[in-house]
Amino acid sequence: MNYIRKTAFGYSTKCNIKCGHCVAANADETHSKMEFSRATGIIDEMSAANVRAISFTAGEPLLFLNDILALIRLCHKNRIYSRVVSNGFWAKSPDKADKIISELKISGLSQLRLSCSRWHQAHISRNHILAAAASCKKFGLDYFISFVTDFSDEDDQFEDFFHDHQLKYFPEPLLYFGRAGKINRPRVFTDYPPHRCDMNPYLTPDLEMYACCDAGNRFDATDFFYLGSLNDHSVDQLFKKYEQHPLFALIKTMGLSAIASYSGLKSSEIVKYRKCELCEKLFNSRETLKYLKTAAESDLMH
Ligand code: SF4
Ligand code: SF4
Repeated sequence: MNYIRKTAFGYSTKCNIKCGHCVAANADETHSKMEFSRATGIIDEMSAANVRAISFTAGEPLLFLNDILALIRLCHKNRIYSRVVSNGFWAKSPDKADKIISELKISGLSQLRLSCSRWHQAHISRNHILAAAASCKKFGLDYFISFVTDFSDEDDQFEDFFHDHQLKYFPEPLLYFGRAGKINRPRVFTDYPPHRCDMNPYLTPDLEMYACCDAGNRFDATDFFYLGSLNDHSVDQLFKKYEQHPLFALIKTMGLSAIASYSGLKSSEIVKYRKCELCEKLFNSRETLKYLKTAAESDLMH
């Protein structure tokens, strides 16, 4: 195996806010949560299967603070790199931020990823993000801000804020899935990017595993990303399925633009797609998927 096994771990889809761009939101607005004892068993199994990094995500993980702290401790014990993705709702003041960050640090958390965007900040003051980041610096916990943006001018104010306060951040393109499917999409202006994708696997609270943590169960015409359930398969079996899938390997190495071109899409068309939209175009169509599956096992691989 020449890459690190890692996964996004959805402990619960419950969230305390309702961002207008949420990819995780279901159409029926229902929530699910994993049994705590099942979660500890899965992390032990992941450790035995050589999973080396776990990112706690889905809804807002820190709504279940004590459970997540215990799961982080378990990761630490098993030498698994751990990350929590949080909207920072708990950082209401510097003291409150210090309390949570010190607990995360003592429990062995490797990194905190703070979500920030104009959609998040319609519910949570950006000062929460500032307080959380300041506490991370104070307690020596690695952090970064995931700045979700549609690259419109109105988002520049956020980057000014990050620069003014010397905050570490990385822009993340808005994904037009879930609630964001209704958001108006400005045209993209780029050259011909390869559109390679790391494809982080995702485990849902219902123990279903998908090859992509962002689109996961969104490609419902083909179920392209679905790997299987931990009720029926072991962690190792599902990771092997992920690792041995020829099209997943090509998405990571060759990239979606080359695959799209091979499938017959004109380059003048390809440049009009965002990465995940191109992915959907190729792999959420039964016909194209059938063609590409055959090709991936022969010509396309070369
Ligand atoms: S984007 Fe994150 S913080 Fe916002 S509603 Fe969805 S899960 Fe909650
Ligand atoms: S490009 Fe495809 S695999 Fe990658 S994040 Fe987007 S939908 Fe998922």
